[in-house]
Amino acid sequence: MFISSQKTINSKISCNGVGLHSGVDTTITLHPAPCDTGIVFRRTDVEATKANVRAHYKNVVTTNLGTTISNEFGTKVSTIEHLMAAIWGCGIDNLYIDIDAPEVPIMDGSSEPFVFLLECAGINVQEKARHVIEVLKTVKIEEEDGKMIEVSPANEFSISLDIDFNHKHIQKQSFDYQTTFASFKNDLARARTFGFQHEIEQLHKMGLAKGGSLKNAILVGENGIVNEGGLRYENEFVRHKTLDFIGDIYLAGYYISGQFKGVKTGHGINNKMLHKLLSDETAWRLI
Ligand SMILES: [Zn+2]
Repeated sequence: MFISSQKTINSKISCNGVGLHSGVDTTITLHPAPCDTGIVFRRTDVEATKANVRAHYKNVVTTNLGTTISNEFGTKVSTIEHLMAAIWGCGIDNLYIDIDAPEVPIMDGSSEPFVFLLECAGINVQEKARHVIEVLKTVKIEEEDGKMIEVSPANEFSISLDIDFNHKHIQKQSFDYQTTFASFKNDLARARTFGFQHEIEQLHKMGLAKGGSLKNAILVGENGIVNEGGLRYENEFVRHKTLDFIGDIYLAGYYISGQFKGVKTGHGINNKMLHKLLSDETAWRLI
């Protein structure tokens, strides 16, 4: 999967929806981008000289309830992770994303609508070879409450994730994602974001989750899953955490070949992992 030419999309394509936290109706338009551009958001509601925000781990400014990036002018784009995961899953290296508000639409809470959008636009194979970050030694980060991420050298990307929410309806769940055996589209893309009923009131008080509904999130209540249709996968929660992980890790700016293990991961530790790995020049090389 990783040894490849760089890719972008064939033609521009748009979608619109509501921001999960802002509740604002937002349009994004994906545009083809030249080789070595990477993934760049362009806020169309901001003065052009201050509008571009590169999808890069060093631009991450907040990680509570989603990943937010900002440029040096304070222009922000939030809740980028499900779109980033879809871009990763479709093998796209270079893309401009025009957005007319500060938050990426939540769509159905998963990456599937973005995968559909990218597939509709078509994939364009570009003339230059793809650069890949090759992990050269094991790097590990541990935090309070048993949170952990470790990466070791490997020829492909894989992630093996464990979660434990200590909630009667989400106990321990594990998922192994290996690019050689699993399909992003079938095994991860459809897994939706989730929230707990007892936290909703608190989020609303904080002015968050204004756009949240049963159409774009799994709601876990005292008596189980509130959504009428139930779950899309038996272990949809850990699959969604895997999807979040992939979206966050793609902020490295390149695909990474390495074997990841994670326990109780979240946007914060995902970002710290990239800082720890990429700040150690003996731990990786760009090939
Ligand atoms: Zn998510």
